[in-house]
Amino acid sequence: MSRPRSERPYRDLPTGVLLAALECVEWDRAGIAEIPEDWEFPVVTAAYLSVVHAELAAEVDRRKRLLASPLAPSWPDRRAELDDLKRRVDLVAAFERWTGATFRKAGQQHRARCPFHKGYAPNDLAVHTEKGLWFCFGCLKGGDVFDLALAVFDPPSFAAVVDVVAREAGMPRSQATARWAGAAPCRPREGSVRVA
Ligand SMILES: [Zn+2]
Repeated sequence: MSRPRSERPYRDLPTGVLLAALECVEWDRAGIAEIPEDWEFPVVTAAYLSVVHAELAAEVDRRKRLLASPLAPSWPDRRAELDDLKRRVDLVAAFERWTGATFRKAGQQHRARCPFHKGYAPNDLAVHTEKGLWFCFGCLKGGDVFDLALAVFDPPSFAAVVDVVAREAGMPRSQATARWAGAAPCRPREGSVRVA
């Protein structure tokens, strides 16, 4: 029998998304016993998650090795001030408010049907609230709350992304960080995502 492969194009993922995916898979592997049987999530088996985990970890290692070379990939570098803002946001609440996604909780997991692609699996989307990360096993979107704001809205600038996250965190923009003050407002992207 040949070794199963996930056949996912992980090499194409931005590094921030890749790191979020790795976290979510590790989290899935730890919590797989808590996933209710009635969850239609056909790919979640321990063997499959091991394969996905090995592939993601290999790609992260490959990029880490590349960091020393002239072909170094970009590596996520959220400034500390943005990390503070990130910690103040309830990622599940932001997802629900911005996209209309409805989450179910089992153990430490929050899962939902992904609002960014038309999939058949109602639990494709994983949110890791403690680490502030999300990843969709269907369409491979993911990252942190800033990546979510980028996916939902049509921001004219990164400052506008910070603005919308600051408001979600209940912080006036000026307190979030002066660097990003003066942003033009975000508008929802056209398309599949419903923004409340
Ligand atoms: Zn998706």
